[in-house]
Amino acid sequence: MCATLSSEQCLGLVEFTSSELVEKPVESAVASAVEHIREAFGVSCVRIREIIPRPFSLRYTYESLDDRSKARRVNQTVTFDEAEWEEAMSVFSNGIYRYDRSQGEAKFIGRVSHKPLYVIEVPMFCGKHFLGTFDIVEFNSEREWTHIELSAVTICANMICQYISRTNKCFVTRYDSTDIDPLTGLMSFTAFSENLDERFTDMIGDTCIAVVYSDIHHFKYINENYGYKKGDELLKLTAGAMSGSSEEYTGTTLSRVHSDNFVSASALPKEFVPYFEDFIKEQNDMLCSLLEDNCPGVKIRMNTGICYVEDASITAATAIANANLARKKAKSESLRRPLVFADSMMDDINYQEYLNNELPKAIANRELKVYYQPKINCSDDSLYGAEALVRWQKPDGSFIYPDQFIPFFEKNGNIVDVDFYVYREVFRYLRKRLDASLPVFPISMNVSRVHLKSDRIIPYIKELIAKYDVPPSLVEFELTENIYMNNLLKADEFISSCRALGAQVSMDDFGSGYSSLNVMSSLSIDTLKIDRIFLKNEDLNDSDKTIIESMITMAKRLGMNVICEGVETQAQSDFLKKAHCDQIQGYYYGRPMDEESFDKFAMEKLGCSVAKNQ
Ligand code: C2E
Ligand code: CA
Ligand code: CA
Repeated sequence: MCATLSSEQCLGLVEFTSSELVEKPVESAVASAVEHIREAFGVSCVRIREIIPRPFSLRYTYESLDDRSKARRVNQTVTFDEAEWEEAMSVFSNGIYRYDRSQGEAKFIGRVSHKPLYVIEVPMFCGKHFLGTFDIVEFNSEREWTHIELSAVTICANMICQYISRTNKCFVTRYDSTDIDPLTGLMSFTAFSENLDERFTDMIGDTCIAVVYSDIHHFKYINENYGYKKGDELLKLTAGAMSGSSEEYTGTTLSRVHSDNFVSASALPKEFVPYFEDFIKEQNDMLCSLLEDNCPGVKIRMNTGICYVEDASITAATAIANANLARKKAKSESLRRPLVFADSMMDDINYQEYLNNELPKAIANRELKVYYQPKINCSDDSLYGAEALVRWQKPDGSFIYPDQFIPFFEKNGNIVDVDFYVYREVFRYLRKRLDASLPVFPISMNVSRVHLKSDRIIPYIKELIAKYDVPPSLVEFELTENIYMNNLLKADEFISSCRALGAQVSMDDFGSGYSSLNVMSSLSIDTLKIDRIFLKNEDLNDSDKTIIESMITMAKRLGMNVICEGVETQAQSDFLKKAHCDQIQGYYYGRPMDEESFDKFAMEKLGCSVAKNQ
């Protein structure tokens, strides 16, 4: 009796099978794999039977027997009657069929010269199509089969099935054309999903299914700049490479969801899970270099999410959605590794959904609060103005800070409502101070990148200036460096329109992105706002100092006003003053505060005199 294979040996077997199924003629590849599997398990016979177009028939196409040295392609056909066939299909759709002598007559094995001790039949499906069986037949000795061994057998069978169906056209032509993606030749997404649902139900003990969802980062850019023909070519290459050798070590089905979005499902023993991410990462790296070789000058990155499914508690649709969610997160965080789905991501989504639903109410109920953070003149520590920063105060008094909702609202476009609310509040505040004959000062507001895609912002600012009758020079719009760099034309258009209205424009977070100092010369902005990242060290180091000094010098030479944000210490403030910075904003002078507190702050700073900057 043959000894049980360890996990490592099972993995080795799967790896061997995978390495055999590469670029070899299908016959020798499959024959060699079948032979190797039989030897590894020390069984009498391993064989493959493929369905043939004749009704209810399976043909033995590969067989390895222990009394012969080589596997051979055989050509015997087993024909069933209709009832037997139906029974076989219903049994196979539940996964592995196992027979042993104690069960009486073996089913589905056709005529045999002598009775086997046991039979293991692994059904081979491609999509929902039954393609045949992978059989282990033993005549001589009993053997216990462990879960991991059965998993390895299933994986090998899947790999062989995929390899045959990919290389042997006779299988593929039997599919309905609707089950094939015409561009890549992969299984259609519908067929993939249906098959995945079935695989979930059939999952055995120690196995899990890894659903992997990937897209090619900035594929749109390739289509637009290299043409759709090139794009299609790369998609075909991707499909080919993904269904290629290495991936199939896990017995994989693969499909294209749409455009450049691919999804695969790999059955793997749970022991393989810790290695799987590395495996996918390597596969992605390989794929990226392949695509880069075929599209010189383009840097390719894959965004990938993985969802592991261990039992049939979720549907294929949910597993795919989860993997896709992890992919989106990997994409938004610019990760170069696949990201594994975690329930907490669902919490994020639920939270975002919750915020989304709550927003209209929050705006109507004035739960959004505008806070003002002072900007201080370096020359004499007087008040220059303020930046308007939004907070969401829930009815229970708790606060949600902008970093927790702005990125999400930027994605779904709701930021426009938030920003317009803030703008209205700022105009209302300035009007209130004007009406009370209190000193007024410039207030800056943040502009999300989303505004540049719509034509609503400039007319809205115009409307507010007219409605509140506020001098336009009192309002300033902060555009971040990244928004500017990613939308040069739109940003320039916005800046000119603001200036034409008499409002001011500043470049926020300067130095945080990838623009260089000489970008400044092309800018027609009033104020350069140096990002707080340069002040991350309480005691500024020499290189930070040099960078800040040169930014200030350059900006001033170009006639710009310069403000530095994130100032938290006296040393930082002293340094900036010495470097001839114009204004300072930061906790050292004041945190963002509500309207009432800011009124008090302004009162202390300005007294009742007319503001310097009016
Ligand atoms: P930002 O435009 O760079 O705003 C400055 C952020 O730095 C504010 O965070 C402010 O509270 C914080 N800050 C100010 N002084 C200091 C300091 O000395 N040390 C440190 N560590 N931080 C300081 P906040 O209010 O949490 O806002 C974060 C970001 O959210 C803002 O960054 C801005 O990009 C965005 N944001 C805030 N309000 C709005 C808004 O009404 N509309 C839009 N589109 N974005 C907004
Ligand atoms: Ca800002
Ligand atoms: Ca900033």
